[in-house]
Amino acid sequence: MAVLNFIFLGPPGAGKGTQAEIIAKKHGLVKISTGDILREAVKNGTELGKLADGYMKAGELVPDEIMLGLIEEQLEKIDKGFILDGFPRTVKQAEGLDELLKKKNMPLKAVILLDVPDEEIVKRLSARRVCPNCGAVYNMIYNPPKNDEICDVCGTKLVQRKDDNPETIKRRLAVYHEQTAPLIDYYKEKGLLVRIDGTGEPEKITRAIEEVIFK
Ligand code: AMP
Repeated sequence: MAVLNFIFLGPPGAGKGTQAEIIAKKHGLVKISTGDILREAVKNGTELGKLADGYMKAGELVPDEIMLGLIEEQLEKIDKGFILDGFPRTVKQAEGLDELLKKKNMPLKAVILLDVPDEEIVKRLSARRVCPNCGAVYNMIYNPPKNDEICDVCGTKLVQRKDDNPETIKRRLAVYHEQTAPLIDYYKEKGLLVRIDGTGEPEKITRAIEEVIFK
């Protein structure tokens, strides 16, 4: 069977979640978004949520051991292939993932880096709104809902993520450059990295990613 396991890498707000959602749905892959899983845990007040909440509000990373445990659980659910959105975020997580994937005989096909400059990230995250009911994501500049701040899908009033405020955005970007960006070289050395321009029309970016997936 063809290998269809991918990592989507890039700064917060690069479009990883949006693209992972579209491509996973279209091609029958499982999207694993660690940010979504953690936000759900916080909402439900689970042990994991209580633990993660403070880190997330501050724009810091949740400890590696917790994240690796969470990913191991998620990998049990894979059939055709997966897209990891927001994981790994440190070299330690990447090494742990390598071990897990080896054990499960699930090789990666590619690591897709969505490249977006910092100035653009700050603009995007400040204008991002999400639906607290169905999870749909909007951008008030590039992709606004039809009615002011109301979800097109389910009619719920949109909200801003707690960590999409100027101070936390700054910290998340710094954390990305310090702790996550080293993964670019990590996967480049393994011959897995594919860089894709993450600016411009979302449809254009989807097509560029699909070219990699079916190469
Ligand atoms: P995201 O939705 O991917 O931007 O993630 C939101 C927040 O969840 C991050 O700022 C971190 O606090 C936490 N988080 C998500 N994924 C990870 C991960 N792989 N490692 C550590 N923390 C994470």
